[in-house]
Amino acid sequence: MTSRRTFVRFSALAAAITILPDKLFAKTVPAIPLGKGTKPIVLSTWRFGIEANQAAWEVLKNGGRALDAVEAGVRVPEGDPKERSVGYGGRPDRDGRVTLDACIMDEFANIGSVACLEYIKHPISVARAVMEKTPHVMLVGDGALQFALSQGFQKENLLLEESEKEWKEWLKTSKYQPIANIENHDTIGMIALDANGNLSGACTTSGMAFKMHGRVGDSPIIGAGLYVDNEIGAATATGHGEEVIRTAGSHLVVELMRQGKSPKAACKEAVDRIVKLVERREKSLKDIQIGFIALNKAGEYGAYCLQSGFNYAVYDQNEGNRLIDSDYFLK
Ligand code: ASP
Repeated sequence: MTSRRTFVRFSALAAAITILPDKLFAKTVPAIPLGKGTKPIVLSTWRFGIEANQAAWEVLKNGGRALDAVEAGVRVPEGDPKERSVGYGGRPDRDGRVTLDACIMDEFANIGSVACLEYIKHPISVARAVMEKTPHVMLVGDGALQFALSQGFQKENLLLEESEKEWKEWLKTSKYQPIANIENHDTIGMIALDANGNLSGACTTSGMAFKMHGRVGDSPIIGAGLYVDNEIGAATATGHGEEVIRTAGSHLVVELMRQGKSPKAACKEAVDRIVKLVERREKSLKDIQIGFIALNKAGEYGAYCLQSGFNYAVYDQNEGNRLIDSDYFLK
């Protein structure tokens, strides 16, 4: 049945076509192909998303909850010392301290977050404990550490010998220079839709290598690094956190999906918005990377980034676990 709203929209469109055919068609942009997955489905950022998706899939394939899947998934790179931008093995700040950021969000809009957390290998699980066991949504620094210890998390040295060496080398020039697509920063953001049709997301990182002590990026900030609305979809971000925060990036992507955009088109518009604001401030786009991934309630997914080199992993029953190169702005 055609609703009144659809009818009114259609009539307006028909009128526009009659009056302005050339203008209308001149503006047509090529359709953005749609990634269509099957439920359950999980998506995560970067190459390390493949192993992370595998762990998440173990939960999802048995009918488990998306929240449990995303926590289990991102714990994989968090615990892996070879991954130098997340959790244990993450690169330190300019004072030689490994400080971690993470957040988590479920289908009920429960949220938990930690920022600038030291000595704890799995900040995502501390974020979940903040969500489930405190009246708050975010704990930072020493307060986050004290809370983690009170919950039984172990205090560990997270600074690898290798990282210490790199940091000492860095001190010689002390030049802060995040490099696009090189892993002196990266984040695992993961979003999932479970068999019951519920969405959740998790996001965790050690942030920018050699950042100022106390610097917090987008990753632990709900709405910036991650956002989930169980009626609409979920999105998460990686890249230069300052730019993502400036646009409340992941929330923006979800809101754009609410307005009817496909996941990829929503990610693209959020990247376009960031580009505009970078240009407005007369900064160069060249060394900035931003990547968004998004998933809607129907299992459709997509991504978009600022420059080439960003990829993301998708796992569903039909096509298995695969790494996909994201489309990008700077061609
Ligand atoms: N978004 C992270 C941050 O700004 C880093 C990254 O994903 O590359 O801390």
